[in-house]
Amino acid sequence: MATERDWRARVPDGMWVKCENPRCAQLLYSKELDRNLRVCSHCDHHFRLSARQRIAITLDPDSFVETDTELMTVNPLNMEGYEAKLKRHRARTSEMEAAVVGTGAILGHPVTIGVTNPFFTVGSMGSVVGEKLARCVERARDQRCPCILISGSGAGARMEEGILSLMQMAKTAAAIGRLRQAGQLCVTILTNPTMAGVYASWASLGDIIIAEPRAMIGFAGQRVVKGTKSDLGADAQSSEFQHEHGMIDRIVPRLEMRGFLESLIRMTYAAPLRKGASVEV
Ligand SMILES: [Zn+2]
Repeated sequence: MATERDWRARVPDGMWVKCENPRCAQLLYSKELDRNLRVCSHCDHHFRLSARQRIAITLDPDSFVETDTELMTVNPLNMEGYEAKLKRHRARTSEMEAAVVGTGAILGHPVTIGVTNPFFTVGSMGSVVGEKLARCVERARDQRCPCILISGSGAGARMEEGILSLMQMAKTAAAIGRLRQAGQLCVTILTNPTMAGVYASWASLGDIIIAEPRAMIGFAGQRVVKGTKSDLGADAQSSEFQHEHGMIDRIVPRLEMRGFLESLIRMTYAAPLRKGASVEV
């Protein structure tokens, strides 16, 4: 009689995925995992998603139209190895940059959407990423529609572009400020990981700030915090900690995220936001 091991040996590569959570490590059937939006059915671990996977589970089917694809990253400070690094990430992800932005719809209502991709330079924000996100926010203001921004960045501002990367923090923050003055809704969704300059700028500036469960979220990483001899506790860089301390409005599991966004959009469109008004969730 064939053992389970024999049977698994005959299964083509890629059909089984090991849960990334080391305390779970269950073998998961790949198609089942996809159907569950890449959330482990044993331990509820939320796998990382690419920018396009995020867009696919957030917007109405076939509503996404990508914009700003003409923006190309250069090497403004002539940093050694930067171009080769970009080339590697482009080959690995089939993306030109760490952000994908565009327009789409939720329940047929127009929205703009910007997503950073944790698989491309850990979602770091250089000049092009910042410009794409700022344009995404500006487009929502021009079209008088909500803007959805989804962060996945373990690196924050991109080291190789120095001060030009840091400037993106101010630029995206200013764009969100103008969107708010125009009375349009900005929702930010923080996913694992959202750290450093991305968290310290646009990701923490939504009118409504949502996070996925157990996402690593914070400004400085654990090693840096330890280096300052501060003791914030082992879970200080978690969405639950940030929620408990008032930095995040709500933790929403991935399987409920689309429904939650639908309710926000319904609420906003039923009663358009007045200038300076806030939304109770
Ligand atoms: Zn698991």
